[in-house]
Amino acid sequence: MDKLWAPWRKQYITKKQPHGCFICRIHASSKDAKHYVLKRSRSSFAVLNLFPYNNGHVMIVPKRHVKSLKQLKDREMLDLMYLMNQVIDRIQTEMKPHGMNVGINLGRVAGAGVPGHLHIHVVPRWSADTNFMPVIAETKVISESLASVYKRLKWNR
Ligand SMILES: [Zn+2]
Repeated sequence: MDKLWAPWRKQYITKKQPHGCFICRIHASSKDAKHYVLKRSRSSFAVLNLFPYNNGHVMIVPKRHVKSLKQLKDREMLDLMYLMNQVIDRIQTEMKPHGMNVGINLGRVAGAGVPGHLHIHVVPRWSADTNFMPVIAETKVISESLASVYKRLKWNR
């Protein structure tokens, strides 16, 4: 295969890509309600997943475009974890799930839909949510609309 000399690629590879990354686009936008941004902290924000695994599926992301935890500064890590904890509390209070899955998919093979921008998933679970529907139909009945979940989970402080 021929190699192309493309020095501008270095910037493309090493710099953040706000135009190609929807998380960066949401961060740059001021329309929080449109993008279902629940809360912004100093260096992170929490946003509803538009393709939720379950009702109340929230992503907690650093504002900076980094792909791994080790690229975060200590204060960013603390801010991210603190916001994650607040989201968990909020979901528990508002939606009263029986449990939650909290996790990070690192890399595309691990299932990360946006492998370039670190994001933590918080997915509330109810004991009855793993019924036959997802297995048979490969679909999941999301019983509450995003707008309604947004209204329940958003807070201003
Ligand atoms: Zn990004």
